[in-house]
Amino acid sequence: MTDCEILEGVPARHWHALEDGRIQCDVCPRYCKLHEGQRGLCFVRGRRENRIVLTTYGRSSGFCVDPIEKKPLNHFLPGTPALSFGTAGCNLTCKFCQNWDISKAREFDRLQDEASPEDVVAAACATGSRSIAYTYNDPVIFLEYAVDVANAAREQGIQNVAVTAGYVSEKAREEFFASMDAANVDLKGFTEAFYKRLCTGHLDAVLETLKYLKCETSVWFEITTLLIPGHNDSPTEIGQLCDWVMDKLGPDVPLHFTAFHPDYKMLDVPRTPPATLAKARDVARAAGLYYVYTGNVHDEAGQSTYCPGCGGVVIGRDCYDITAWGLSSEGRCGACGTQIAGLFEGRPGTWGQHRQPVRLGGALPPIA
Ligand code: SF4
Repeated sequence: MTDCEILEGVPARHWHALEDGRIQCDVCPRYCKLHEGQRGLCFVRGRRENRIVLTTYGRSSGFCVDPIEKKPLNHFLPGTPALSFGTAGCNLTCKFCQNWDISKAREFDRLQDEASPEDVVAAACATGSRSIAYTYNDPVIFLEYAVDVANAAREQGIQNVAVTAGYVSEKAREEFFASMDAANVDLKGFTEAFYKRLCTGHLDAVLETLKYLKCETSVWFEITTLLIPGHNDSPTEIGQLCDWVMDKLGPDVPLHFTAFHPDYKMLDVPRTPPATLAKARDVARAAGLYYVYTGNVHDEAGQSTYCPGCGGVVIGRDCYDITAWGLSSEGRCGACGTQIAGLFEGRPGTWGQHRQPVRLGGALPPIA
């Protein structure tokens, strides 16, 4: 928590006053207890005049139209563009953060675009985006802004996608996920020691979010685990993670194993070898999971979707490009008729790999 200052922001939800005069933020399992003028660990929620305010409402770290596969979501409107944005700050402290320039930013040194919910939705419509992705930093900490954008998006028939670590309290997650249509949840490792040592968080809270999504919502979700050499990539830990997903969530939940690159406070750890990703994928498939993918590497075989009925390729992928399509308009395997889990249309989108930065009021040229 930071020292006293006068905070600007919009009134936030999910907090209560404590008997000792402090106010507790109830958005995530950190439950920061704040004196007047203090910010929570995420830096963007803080106390002003005896209530909690969100200091990043309506302010973003930039907009970009990405392929939905970059979130990553492989079973949710494949091939379509997603208007993506984040704000600043984070409620975890991952030493390996791959987006640390945003997640560790103090909002004033990072935020560029001011955007009302209506502005964001207008940009999504103008760019032909099928969804808005709340990403780059964890949207749980800017819940009020994300929910307002999401509700405005739904009115225009645009879907909402959360990219989150799932580190959120029971009450806040109800409100947050009620406005989301899909999510990718980072399951950063499968030991409490990993979460404690590298993220200063707790594994159980994330597992509870995953079970909640499966059992109590209709949100389509996929899971991503970044494999970090020597830290969470032992065959035992990967096996336990896969068994848990199979047992608690079922075989239809897609699991992505992605490659780490040295970043932030873990510059001394090597990149993940492609063989580690391939082996993890084998372990997951042997555990019974139907849809397992590798990421951040070139691996068409490991990034394509296979029918659990006949084993044929139903969606071919080369990074974010769709190279084959074998699904009916109902999302069934064209060869054997097995239903493939997810949200599909009769044909894939054609957005491809490219990313297009967007300045509200006009799109910028595409980048590779
Ligand atoms: S969202 Fe989490 S980290 Fe941020 S103030 Fe609330 S409890 Fe603290």
